[in-house]
Amino acid sequence: MNIVILLGAPGSGKGTIASRISSENPQLKHVSSGDLLRGAVAKGTEAGKAAKEAMDAGQLVADELIATMIKDVIAETEGDVTMLLDGFPRNVKQAEILEAMGVPLRSVVLVDVPDAAIEDRIAGRRTCPECKAGYHVRALPPKVEGICDKCGAKLVVRKDDNPETVKDRLKVYHAQTEPLIEYYTKKGLLRRIDGDQGPVKNAEAFLAAM
Ligand code: ADP
Repeated sequence: MNIVILLGAPGSGKGTIASRISSENPQLKHVSSGDLLRGAVAKGTEAGKAAKEAMDAGQLVADELIATMIKDVIAETEGDVTMLLDGFPRNVKQAEILEAMGVPLRSVVLVDVPDAAIEDRIAGRRTCPECKAGYHVRALPPKVEGICDKCGAKLVVRKDDNPETVKDRLKVYHAQTEPLIEYYTKKGLLRRIDGDQGPVKNAEAFLAAM
């Protein structure tokens, strides 16, 4: 197994890219830290209870809490797989924890989108609570309004996708996650794609870069 990290602001399209390319290639496994955490919150596990407040406020949950979840997913992954790690690591401490897990890092791909585009993207975002598919009311609408194409569930607006919380999430991204760009550049692992080309071209550019 090896790992490709997706780096980028909230709403930059990391999840859309990772779910698109992994659905077409069984060797790629998409692991989203946000989906793992929302799953834990929905189930009401101890980890979910501990994470909920920070998530609702657009802040990061404790490093050890999310790192343990990622470690468990890595432990249960077998065979010749490239894991597309979406949302982890999100600060330098988490990058160090990941390194200590000992899984080879293939590359880190930054999905580059200007802040000005982010707020509109998140305002129009709709999410399937069942299969986690992501949509946008204009850029990537479902075939039937409000209904997931893939599983037929009713789409929702994520609780942390309101404009106020989005501002806080962007602040957290710039302060805590952006330093990873330099961190991975120094290690010679960083690649960059333009994340503003639409879902199909974004996915192609990512595959070519990773
Ligand atoms: P987005 O990338 O759109 O911000 P995510 O689904 O990746 O959304 O994350 C949602 C929330 O889950 C974050 O705002 C944060 O509270 C929490 N979270 C996700 N990944 C991590 C992480 N690696 N470390 C700490 N908190 C995280």
